Amino acid sequence: MEAVRGIDFQSLKTTGVKVNYLYVCERKLWLFDRGIQMESKSDKVLMGKLTGENSYPREEKREVLIDNLINIDIVGDDEIREVKYSNRMHHADRIQLLYYLYYLKRLGIEKRGVINYPKIRKREEVLLTADAEKEVEAALVRVQDILQMDKPPQLQRKPYCAKCAYYEFCWG
Ligand code: SF4
Repeated sequence: MEAVRGIDFQSLKTTGVKVNYLYVCERKLWLFDRGIQMESKSDKVLMGKLTGENSYPREEKREVLIDNLINIDIVGDDEIREVKYSNRMHHADRIQLLYYLYYLKRLGIEKRGVINYPKIRKREEVLLTADAEKEVEAALVRVQDILQMDKPPQLQRKPYCAKCAYYEFCWG
């Protein structure tokens, strides 16, 4: 993805889930944005919610929603954490967390990120490096480009289409 400098963050800022979907599938991002939210019925998403809600019951500061756009699972003193059901969409989980770190930095808050995959007992640290900041900015520009399209991006089969909530919509 091409790097973009000096973006207009106020006009480009968006939800964490849209940044996540950009890396999952651009077509899915477009469909979701148009209000076709079949994903809410997905067992996987439900499982993800259950995993997030039950894995860290003693955590004091949890689920912080900022500007109605980013919803951070757990906020600690030095780090923010996201809890994910599986690492199948690791690249999407990573850009979403980088976006959160970027968003917080814009608010004057600097932290490191951690992704927890409790089901496979894995923990990954994610840092907002200069290159990562450029990647986030490029992602935000790309999200806007896709959402401005009149039609959904062309069908392109992904290895995980069969498990996607939009499968019937795309391939049925
Ligand atoms: S079924 Fe495949 S092409 Fe359609 S939205 Fe899902 S991942 Fe994208």
